Parts: sequence; structure tokens; C-alpha cells
Amino acid sequence: MNLPQEFLSRMKERLGEEFPAFLQSYQTPPVKAIRVNTLKISREEFQKISPFTLIGNVPWEANGYLIDATKAGSDAYHFAGLYYSQEPSAMFPVSLLGVSEGERVLDLCAAPGGKATQIACALNGKGILIANEHDYTRCRILSENIERLGVRNAAAVNAEPSVLAERFPEYFDKILVDAPCSGEGMFRKDPFAAEQWSPALVRGCAYKQKEILTCAAQMLRKGGRLVYSTCTFSAEENEGQIESFIKSHPEFVLLQTRRLYPHEGCGEGQFAALLEKTEGGEGEVKRFPVKRAVQAERAFSDFSEEFLQGDRLEGDITTLSDGRMYLLPADMPVLGVRTLRFGLELGVWDGKTFKPAHALAASIKRSQCNRFLSLSREESEKYLRGETIGNDIPNGWCVVGIERFPLGLGKAVNGIIKNHFPKGLRKR
Ligand code: SAM
Repeated sequence: MNLPQEFLSRMKERLGEEFPAFLQSYQTPPVKAIRVNTLKISREEFQKISPFTLIGNVPWEANGYLIDATKAGSDAYHFAGLYYSQEPSAMFPVSLLGVSEGERVLDLCAAPGGKATQIACALNGKGILIANEHDYTRCRILSENIERLGVRNAAAVNAEPSVLAERFPEYFDKILVDAPCSGEGMFRKDPFAAEQWSPALVRGCAYKQKEILTCAAQMLRKGGRLVYSTCTFSAEENEGQIESFIKSHPEFVLLQTRRLYPHEGCGEGQFAALLEKTEGGEGEVKRFPVKRAVQAERAFSDFSEEFLQGDRLEGDITTLSDGRMYLLPADMPVLGVRTLRFGLELGVWDGKTFKPAHALAASIKRSQCNRFLSLSREESEKYLRGETIGNDIPNGWCVVGIERFPLGLGKAVNGIIKNHFPKGLRKR
């Protein structure tokens, strides 16, 4: 691999006698890992059915496993949202943030959603996650990943950090700033990142990160914690960034920093700093108003009676003017920015019938669903490619799953299950 000379001399100076081991690490393939999505399956259950061999644990994330597969992400369990492919060092920042159930959490630079979905697992359906991504195309991917993993208490929003800072002053208990960076830790995985690298890129990223951090600081409540992380090694983007931030923000104290390197054997590299805000206030944002629509709610209730069983879906149902219905987590705030997903989309009421949403199917468990069609691995592949399935369950909507794990919706019509797996998500 061709690494930039200037980068190498910087690393030699930084690492001293560890430098040869660092250089040697570029001769070995990247370490692969997955994180089990505990919103859908326990670690123990996943270990029994894992489609690839789990060869070790990720030291800082109980749900993270090192794997031997090169192609995690193409099997039906991935489509069912049972796991997320994530390189091991990328799991470190959220572990450092220490999210607890019930908290208000902001992931300010969230796409494609590895860390956002890790936060969602820690929240375990309680509290609120605002996952923001300023690039619209990337925000759509973030939104799809939130849906695939069955997260109900999140919003995927597409805003500039400065706009969010105005909307949410001192609102969050925890904030993750996984900043855009020069990506020096990505060189082994992505040789293009090495081609793009230059000292000017490092300076440009440091400038952008400073702006993003300043916005994040405004949104944290007193006593709240913030993790700043990058997947790069340059001091300007890491320790230097934090030092200058603390100088200009004396209300913050630095609790911990850590660097991970590829030659340490568990991932591509990461920097993370944990900060606490010791002064300030606690802001409030208006709660999202619940918009009741009697007929639509009756239609959903009729649908639920036939379709769902067991635990009730917890939360308030709100119906928008276009008939789309959502289940809101408690205390969902008014967002006021472009939003691609909020709460759980239940479906749409067109004035006559209720049509369930893919997100609803992706978020429920087999035990919550009365009309469940369990497919084998082979049949699941067909379903994921958009094919119809023959089955004689009674006419109507059903959840189609691989074994007991929901994949999406189908509609039974006289022995044929029409495929309602979203076209844009299908397997090619
Ligand atoms: N946290 C993500 C994850 O774990 O999947 C990875 C985030 S990536 C390191 C950084 C993100 O910051 C990118 O998605 C990028 O589009 C976004 N970004 C770039 N410039 C930005 C800016 N000026 N403000 C906010 N976000 C920005």
C-alpha cells in the first residue's frame, strides 16, 4: 500500500519505537467485527445462529464480536437487523459515552449509523435519540439503518449543527461528536483515503471540527457528557482540538482520552475524548403535539387487533395531515428541521383503509405478531429479491420473516404472498 510520505514521518515521530509495528500492520488485512442488535436478539441467541464464526470479543463493547467473514452484511439475518457490521475500534466512542436508558442523546454526525444504532441499543427503547447527518444522501442511509435495526425512539434529521444548536439549547444528557476527519485510520480499509490525504486536509478538517464542537457544546445540559471522536491520528484533529476547546469553553472538564492503533490488533484506529459540562442550565424544548385522528386511530386499532398480539405498543399515536401515523416515544420534542424519520412509523390511513409501514414490521418481534410467515433461508433470499411466495395463510397483511425474525411485510391474496419489501432495500 502507498502511504503518503508526510503522513509516515508524522507517525514515526509520534510513535517512536512502536512505529515499525504500526507500519507492519498495513501488511495484514483489516479486522472485521459485528455488533449484535440487542433490540432484536440477545447475544446468547445470536451466538447460536451466527452466520459466521465469532472468533473473539471486542474488549470495550459487550455486544461486539470479531468475525472471520469477509462478507458480513449480505445474509438474511443482516436484512432482519440482527447485527450491524462495524469495525471494532469504531465501537469504542459510544462505550466511552456511557449511555443509560431514558436519556436524551444526540449523535451529531451520525451517518451511516453505526454509532447511532449502538446508542439505540444502550437506550433499549427508553429515552430519545436524535441522529443527525448534514448530508442528505447519507442521512437516508442513516434512516434506513435505524429502521432495519428496529429502533423506535429515534429521529433521523438532516441539519447543520449550527441550526440544531439554536433549536436545542442545553437539551441533551449525552452528545456524540464523531467528527468528519482526515481518516488516517481508514487507510488500510480504504486506499482512496490515503490518496486523498494531505497536510491541508488535516488543517481543513480541524477547522470544521472546531465549528461542530462549538455547536455541540451549546446543546449539552449542565452535568451532561460529550464524546468527541475521530478515526484519524493527527494531533491537530485530536488532542490539539480538545486542548483548544477546553481553553475556549472553561465550563467543560476533560475526563479521559484514548487512542487506539491498528498495530494493537483490535481495529483500524480511533481517538476519543470524554468531556463533562460542569456549568450551565437545563433547556427544554416543546413536546411534539399529539395530533389525534379518531377514524385513523380506529382503523389502526382494528388492524392491530387482527395483526398484533401480546405487549401493547407503548407511546402516543400521532396522525399527520397526509394520514401517516407514528408512535412517538415519551417526550418527543418538536424538531423543526428536515426530518427523515421520527418515532415509529405505523402506517398510513387513506380515509378508507389502513396500510401498515415497513418500519412497523421491522420493529416487532415474532411474539408480538399474530400473522407471521416464517421462511427458510432459501425462501428468505427470494423474498428479499422481491419475489412472491406461495402460501395458503388467510388473505390479508402478514409479517414475513427468516425463521422467527421479521424481514418485512407481505399481503396474502388467495394463496400468493405479494411482496411488500421496499423496492429500494431489495437484494440484487
Ligand atoms: N458516526 C458515524 C457512524 O458511526 O456510522 C460516522 C460519522 S463520519 C465519521 C462523519 C460524518 O460527519 C459524515 O457522515 C459526514 O457527512 C458528516 N459531516 C461532514 N461535514 C460535516 C459538517 N460540517 N457538519 C456536520 N457533519 C458533517
